[in-house]
Amino acid sequence: MIETVGFILAALVGIMIGINLNKFKIERKNLKRLEKLNHSYFKGLNYLLNDDSDRAIDVFIELAKTSNETFEPQLALGNLYRRKGEVDKAIKLHQSLISQPNLPESYRTKALLAMGKDYMSAGLLDRAEVLFTELVEIEAYTPEALYSLCEIYQQEKDWDEAIKSASRYQIVSGRKMSNDIAHFNCELAEKCLKEHNDKEAQGYLTSALSINPKCVRAKLIEAREFQKNKKWKKAIDAYHDALVFDDVYASEYIDEMSFCYSQIKKCDQFKVFLLEFIKSYQGISPVLVLAQMYKHSEGIEKAEKFVEAQLVEKPSVRGLDLLLKLNLEKNAQSPEDVTKFQVLEQLVNKLLAQKPNHRCRKCGFGAKKLHWQCPSCKSWGSVKPIYGLETE
Ligand SMILES: [Zn+2]
Repeated sequence: MIETVGFILAALVGIMIGINLNKFKIERKNLKRLEKLNHSYFKGLNYLLNDDSDRAIDVFIELAKTSNETFEPQLALGNLYRRKGEVDKAIKLHQSLISQPNLPESYRTKALLAMGKDYMSAGLLDRAEVLFTELVEIEAYTPEALYSLCEIYQQEKDWDEAIKSASRYQIVSGRKMSNDIAHFNCELAEKCLKEHNDKEAQGYLTSALSINPKCVRAKLIEAREFQKNKKWKKAIDAYHDALVFDDVYASEYIDEMSFCYSQIKKCDQFKVFLLEFIKSYQGISPVLVLAQMYKHSEGIEKAEKFVEAQLVEKPSVRGLDLLLKLNLEKNAQSPEDVTKFQVLEQLVNKLLAQKPNHRCRKCGFGAKKLHWQCPSCKSWGSVKPIYGLETE
């Protein structure tokens, strides 16, 4: 595929030179110069087409040093090297373009942007940061440079700077970044909580919720802090707020909600809530929690019947697993019975262990646990529980 792209690019470059030669009425003096240029170019292209990219890059670098007449294709070729993973060649080519004497400013800034991306691909974040900062200062490619700076600060976990660049990017590009900025504030809040700086953490959570009033993550951090400090009612309210914002993450904290209700001895109230909630919620977690509550308050039989009825509506391996456990508890009378149930349970557990139960809705990355930032495509809040037979 990459070879094909390279071939197409090479062909386009050749065509462009041809067009340039025909389009302009070239004076004799210029013609000689262009012929030389043309010759060098086709020599480079020949190396490229024969997969000799080391020789090709030497020819193109020499060309880049002496002329800007083929600036655009040279720039594109550098970008192609970057996409192929040959970042060192991309840097060399873009560097030689930038170092050209008398290079028009518009070309220079374009090459700076490309080289910033090269440095990012090579993991040279400090160098990339310098180039993008320069572009922002001279107001050239400001949105792209700010977005790249924001990506760099995220990689460096410099959340304050990430917030600044994302906020500026939002203004200059008109593209909303409130979801991302709210997550950056949550990152800062979690960092403060680890350092036992609760007051500052609360400030960041308030910022997150003012930027994105439906930020589930900020609400969950609040709820868990209340729970940690045994402020059960406040924790319950915060968990309910998170459900109202978006109940897609309910499976992540439904057990914690149940625990908080049990601490204030309001399990009946929670049961009523869950009975209503499971009517609209797609997953199985609230059913499992409610079944456990029935088991403790009204006995195994009630729990068993409830799970059986729910499994008709919502077929689920996790539901089946609970049903097996309830059956084992109720019916197993001999060691042979226990062994039979254990074999079945092991099978179910193996089936569950093989499957990812979270997936990024942007890139499809599968994970066993929730990531607020997708490890693959780096989107914020795109990894969500999977609903289905073998998952939530
Ligand atoms: Zn993703």
